[in-house]
Amino acid sequence: MRKKYLLAPGPTPVPEVALLAMAQPAIHHRTSQFSGIFREAADLLKYVFQTREDVLILAASGTGAMEGSIVNLFSPGDEVIVVNGGKFGERWGKISEAYGLKVNWINVEWGKAVDPSAVKKVLDEKPNVKGVLVQASETSTTAAHPVKELAALTKGKDCLLIVDGITGVGVFDIPMDDWGIDVLVSGSQKAFMLPPGLAFAALSEKAWKFQETAKCPKFYFDFKKERKNLKDNTTAYTPATSLITGLRESLKLIKEEGLQNVFARHDRLARATRAASTALGLKLLAPDSPSNAATGVFVPEGVDGGKLVKYLRDEMGITLAGGQDHLKGKLLRIAHLGYVDTFDIITSISSIEMALSKFGHKVEFGKGVGAAQKILLEGYK
Ligand SMILES: *Cc1c(COP(=O)(O)O)cnc(C)c1O
Repeated sequence: MRKKYLLAPGPTPVPEVALLAMAQPAIHHRTSQFSGIFREAADLLKYVFQTREDVLILAASGTGAMEGSIVNLFSPGDEVIVVNGGKFGERWGKISEAYGLKVNWINVEWGKAVDPSAVKKVLDEKPNVKGVLVQASETSTTAAHPVKELAALTKGKDCLLIVDGITGVGVFDIPMDDWGIDVLVSGSQKAFMLPPGLAFAALSEKAWKFQETAKCPKFYFDFKKERKNLKDNTTAYTPATSLITGLRESLKLIKEEGLQNVFARHDRLARATRAASTALGLKLLAPDSPSNAATGVFVPEGVDGGKLVKYLRDEMGITLAGGQDHLKGKLLRIAHLGYVDTFDIITSISSIEMALSKFGHKVEFGKGVGAAQKILLEGYK
């Protein structure tokens, strides 16, 4: 027998209350029974997104909310700025180009955060730019971008700040309304502690104004139609009823813990993981601006990262993520978001110590675990 541990930056583990809720017999979606569940989930989403605006619930993976944001707010030929610091930044640009937008790429070295002055420079030079697209947490590099500073740049301008918060919302503080973020999107399989299949999008008043004149083609991801349906406690097309039933439960868990405590837990787990990695001599990919969702570390010289990830998964039952693109085979990404706590970190760090040793790397057993324990103890009275 091999017990399995899912410690990847999405999909993430699902708590028992959500699993049980989703295992209930199917109900029809055009009923007061489902509308009640939907309303409760929609209200709790506003709490987690820290907004007074509606949070649209779409049956799609997170990318659906990204695509929806582009097609509902822009027209072909519109100019946008894309912060490209990894796979997901690149995705903003690819979607934009697919719809005929003109992209001003700001390329950021993997593992680094964007310098807000680089964005300001392009905004100053190109007054026609209608949107700035960025990740709060670039999951492919485990770096966090300075969303608050970027929001200050677009505030009061005829330009939207559109934030992919897919591994940010519910992980660290991104107060949408307070900071003046115009679009914030997320997805169910990250900090929302659910299987994949739901995407979320919240739009500011300014963004809804852009929506009125946007001419990109669209049908399924029609935000205006979704907002109208949301007011009637439903969605335009058949909602993912079981996922939304689970969503209500996972959101209740977040509400009970309290958003600030949720952020503090993620911060503690992230610091412990970084300390453990450093103690083991593993170099961090994003030491200067790390995301609290996941920690990327370089595997030691001479160790094949791809084989290490496979060994951890197939032999030890521990699913971590590797690197992508040019970091394929060179990186381990240890997730600490969603339904995770102290002993998930202990498990991932100790498994890395053991696997590295199996791969012939000299490891002092317990060195990483001990460094993590010191920080994790903060979580107890
Ligand atoms: C997971 C993720 C996405 C969305 O991916 P999907 O596979 O479409 O759910 C987008 N952005 C970031 C930062 C992510 O971590």
